[in-house]
Amino acid sequence: MRLETLAVHAGAEPDPTTGAVAPPIHLSTTFVHGPACEETHGYSYIREKNPTQTRLEEAMAKLEGGESTLAFASGLGAVCAVLQSLERGSHVIFPDDAYTGYRNLYNEFLPQWGLEHSVVDFTETEHIRSALKKNTRLVLAETPSNPSLKITDLLAVADITHSAGAELLVDNTFATPMLQRPLALGADLILHSLTKYCGGHSDVQGGCLVLKSDAKWRERLFRTRMLMGAVASPFNSWLILRGLRSLDCRMERHSSNAAKLASALENLPKVERVCYPGLVSNEGHELARRQMKSFGGMLSFQMRGGFEEAIRVASRVKLFTNATSLGGTESLIEHRASSEGEGTKVPQNLLRVSVGLEHADDLIEDLQQAIG
Ligand code: PLP
Repeated sequence: MRLETLAVHAGAEPDPTTGAVAPPIHLSTTFVHGPACEETHGYSYIREKNPTQTRLEEAMAKLEGGESTLAFASGLGAVCAVLQSLERGSHVIFPDDAYTGYRNLYNEFLPQWGLEHSVVDFTETEHIRSALKKNTRLVLAETPSNPSLKITDLLAVADITHSAGAELLVDNTFATPMLQRPLALGADLILHSLTKYCGGHSDVQGGCLVLKSDAKWRERLFRTRMLMGAVASPFNSWLILRGLRSLDCRMERHSSNAAKLASALENLPKVERVCYPGLVSNEGHELARRQMKSFGGMLSFQMRGGFEEAIRVASRVKLFTNATSLGGTESLIEHRASSEGEGTKVPQNLLRVSVGLEHADDLIEDLQQAIG
């Protein structure tokens, strides 16, 4: 079945007891079991698993082509489960341009969990090879990256990672399964912040890990999730499932709007640089063409005139909303250096944009008037 059809039908089987076409939300925290606690209906307690979450997991596994999926309360909850599943003394390699939560995690928590880390530029795959150590167990790639939209060559990184006996985790949040299929490019695990495009309406938080094969990770991750408690709630699972049904259509529009906006921004003299892999001028363009179906709805741009100019633009927008996060129907703009705070490496003149589903011309006109 084609991906577009799967997005509509995966995990969407009518309820066998009532025939309801929309899936039920099972809020029950506990499930009938036998006298010696034997599972009689496949479920026992909500922190282990629940039926609505199972539907979401089945849908994400099908969309990404994995053997199974584990859903979490948030994207960070999912990443933490992977890190907490590693043995003490393990070494992890992170990209230099990536979601800021990773930076906070490796600075604040990895040392106390007994994990080592390195941070390198993933566009130079040889840097990853040089950073490998005997105890490297995990390489975490994010492509396109946040907020500079850098593109990582997943086939090459998977090769390097596996040659060292490590595993590759790819954060596929920006691209979604509709635009990029990391497992086919060599990844072992996929991470999603489902809070973003998969949920798609800025009204639900969730995360998941898609596993290429269950053998190595499933039991450890399941146990970590159960004991650390970062399980997805039934209602959140249901909202994300609903979001998946329109994911393909939304990604098409996010991508075409972002491409138009990126081209328009490139023509404005006050804009120093536009970061969008769909632009022919972008250094990751050829690679993105090879490994993505289209280039997604995220872009960033840098203003001539530094911090003051960027803040001036952010304060003059009328249609864009100044807010963090991404992947909803509405367009958002954010001064990332301010959002990330102390220790950020993001240029002070950079504004990140989550391009929504509005008419592209309205978005272009709003940024044109704000930039002036
Ligand atoms: N990965 C990326 C690329 C993100 O942008 C985010 C959040 O912004 C996360 C992971 C973390 O996800 P969550 O906020 O759902 O914990």
